[in-house]
Amino acid sequence: MIIDTHAHYDDGQFDIDREELLTSMEANGITRIVNVGADMDSSRQTVALTEKYSFLYGAVGVHPNSTAELSQEKIIELKKMAQLPKIVAIGEIGLDYYWDEPEPSVQKQWFDCQMDLAREVKLPMIIHSRDAAKDTIDMMKAQKAGEIGGVIHCYSYSVEMAREYLNMGFFLGIGGVVTFKNAKTIKEVVSYAPIEALVLETDCPYLAPEPNRGKRNSSKNIPYVVQEIARLKDIDVEKVIAVTEKNARSLYPKLK
Ligand SMILES: [Zn+2]
Repeated sequence: MIIDTHAHYDDGQFDIDREELLTSMEANGITRIVNVGADMDSSRQTVALTEKYSFLYGAVGVHPNSTAELSQEKIIELKKMAQLPKIVAIGEIGLDYYWDEPEPSVQKQWFDCQMDLAREVKLPMIIHSRDAAKDTIDMMKAQKAGEIGGVIHCYSYSVEMAREYLNMGFFLGIGGVVTFKNAKTIKEVVSYAPIEALVLETDCPYLAPEPNRGKRNSSKNIPYVVQEIARLKDIDVEKVIAVTEKNARSLYPKLK
């Protein structure tokens, strides 16, 4: 069965039909969803969603572009949320120099602090890294992030960088982008990486796969991602589903 390892159902784009959409997931073969916080408010909303839906789990953390709101008190609040039984990871955290807001030194300070938090609460990390390949890997190596573990969400770097993350024991999150015709590098990464290192994700409402590119995304689109991974690796769709489910459970040990 399919596990969506990275979704944002707290997003306002789901306000009109969230209940209807989420309750239809199981009938569509989506048996587990991990909703990921991107700031304090969405982390709190993630906790509320995990309380409402049995199949929905959560991650709490602050996305690099929202780190200006962080303080030591907020880190304590994140720590309390992280200890709830259905919170399975710290994320999404990392560096994003595409949107260079706030300045890199602030992003780095809170990335490091949230890696410390993941280590302290013994949860894996969901890493967001965009246009910041070198600083991300340097900071993760300095933190011995391999001891903490986690996933590089929406993996978008080279095959060489993928090798570095695989050597650290990290999973690579693969979503809608792999289906885009011009996404040559990620197709190469999926061909190169062992299937045992890949997990499925949507990042919904963003990044819908072909043939729904540009529309609002949801976990129901994951079969298009599965088909493309199966094609690239020349294996059965069933095998992609079975192995990535096992991978998701090993990435998030608290997932029941
Ligand atoms: Zn995300």
